[in-house]
Amino acid sequence: MTSSLIIIVSLLSCLTHAVTHPPTLFEDHEFHDGPWIVIERLDHPDTFRQLDEILPTPDELRLASGAPGPEYWQQQVDYDIKVRLDEATRTLHGQERITYHNNSPHELRYLWLQLDQNRFRRDSLANRSTSSPDFTQDQSLRSMRQHLELKEWEGGCDIHRVALSDGSDLEFTVVDTVMRIELPKPLASEAVFTFDVDWSHPVVRNTTRRARSSYELFDDGHAIYEIAQWFPRLCPYTDGDGWQNKAFLGSSEFATEFGDYTVAITVPETHVVASTGVLANSDEVLSQRQRTRLTESMTAQEPVLIITPEEALANEERVSDGNRTWVFDAEDVRDFAWASSPTFAWDAWGVAIPGSDRVTLAMSYFPVEGEPLWSRYSTQSVAHALEMYSHFTIPYPYPVAISVNGPVGGMEYPMICFNGPRPEDDGTYTQRTKYGLIGVIIHEVGHNWFPMIINSDERQWTWMDEGLTTFIQYLAQEVWEDDYPSRRGEPQNIVRYMMSENQRPIMSHGESIIQRGNNAYAKPATALNILRETVLGREQFDYAMREFSRRWAFKRPEPADFFRTMEDASGTDLDWFWRSWFYSTDHVDVSVE
Ligand SMILES: [Zn+2]
Repeated sequence: MTSSLIIIVSLLSCLTHAVTHPPTLFEDHEFHDGPWIVIERLDHPDTFRQLDEILPTPDELRLASGAPGPEYWQQQVDYDIKVRLDEATRTLHGQERITYHNNSPHELRYLWLQLDQNRFRRDSLANRSTSSPDFTQDQSLRSMRQHLELKEWEGGCDIHRVALSDGSDLEFTVVDTVMRIELPKPLASEAVFTFDVDWSHPVVRNTTRRARSSYELFDDGHAIYEIAQWFPRLCPYTDGDGWQNKAFLGSSEFATEFGDYTVAITVPETHVVASTGVLANSDEVLSQRQRTRLTESMTAQEPVLIITPEEALANEERVSDGNRTWVFDAEDVRDFAWASSPTFAWDAWGVAIPGSDRVTLAMSYFPVEGEPLWSRYSTQSVAHALEMYSHFTIPYPYPVAISVNGPVGGMEYPMICFNGPRPEDDGTYTQRTKYGLIGVIIHEVGHNWFPMIINSDERQWTWMDEGLTTFIQYLAQEVWEDDYPSRRGEPQNIVRYMMSENQRPIMSHGESIIQRGNNAYAKPATALNILRETVLGREQFDYAMREFSRRWAFKRPEPADFFRTMEDASGTDLDWFWRSWFYSTDHVDVSVE
């Protein structure tokens, strides 16, 4: 389809509205051709009107071109964390030193920290805003078990102490999932403030609550811990929103600042730890044989097993001889996550990153329950994602990229992601499981770009990380093999959704969207696919997408920065496209008689 046909089609759609229901300025809802479809628009019925009133006024911080301007600023927060996993109580105990760099032009009188684990308090806003199940209907065994376990278990982050580095206490106030710290004196622009926080919290079991961080217990008593959103970390303070003050309700993800991390993770001696960052004490925690294999994997032709499945089985049978501390360093990351288990097999493979001279180690950690699927496809999928996203955006800037199998179905953090699919107990698997694993790994590794490097606010705009990631995931799957069974990205897969009731425009707050998978993943991925194939053409689209990624790498783009950059770099007015695809629930409606 050509762009002129799209315009004609959009015009026809517009005309139908005009005939059935005369448009009124700033009307929220229009009923179109009877009661079965609700068209929702954010402001204006003219399909081709420019977005002038909708987009924020550009300034020297965020330019009209969509680029960051000369006055652009963002905060930096560095963390030095010591954390211990107590397996007997499944609890994390942490001590952290936080260094806050106030790069804003403003004086700050207090700091806000995020305590995501407080979502699991009984009286959390997340719990109080969740509907209870309908017990007049049948309940699944899983759901009943969950409710019984929740009677016994309560999560939440206990803050033991907040103090200056000289030891004197600082006052703090917890408000649901955030905590305000009173500064001894206002923090001037360009000043740096260092303070300590001691805390602990129980790790939730995956059968008790579906969570982005949890542990899985096997029948033999061994566990896999996937640990994320686990330490008190600064809320972002930004030019657009001031302090981020949207509570963590469990659905919309998070926004954070970039910083450098040193994290010392103490776990039982039999555990193997996978983590954001580079292992700084490999000579203390890895055997000579493991270190040799790791070196070989950098230049190998295929993934090299650092711990074989047989070695993993032998390891988990040992009795832990006390604890061991793994130390990781990570630079310029917006978060930090890790996983720990005595069950892990581990493979690694050096991947030459397109467009740079970097070799990144693609790695996977998995229990034997993941075999043979995981050693066949996980690290291969990580490598493919590294190559594809580097090609379509900017070269991957980090030294490692890790995929871990455990209790979490699919979740991303800088340099590490958690992916759930496993074969049946006898090791066989369906095509659906195989492609499900490859797809989820490509997707979660892809999140390293959106939003881990191109740092959009996930709490606010789900589509900016999920939509952009899903779009390039679709392109990557097309390259993986012909006729890859992609769920999202093809226009034909989204027709039913586009005609369905109860939609919200893509440009809706993350907690307000309905039909989340279609709204924030499939529709933006399909829109960008059409923009690339039909409106701009691949050459202009890819140029603009790379320019957006280059401009906003390690910075914080807003939606308008994306819309403006795509127009600015492609030399094409796309206001009409953003208006209909992102700011309304309009759909094409034509027939030939
Ligand atoms: Zn995602």
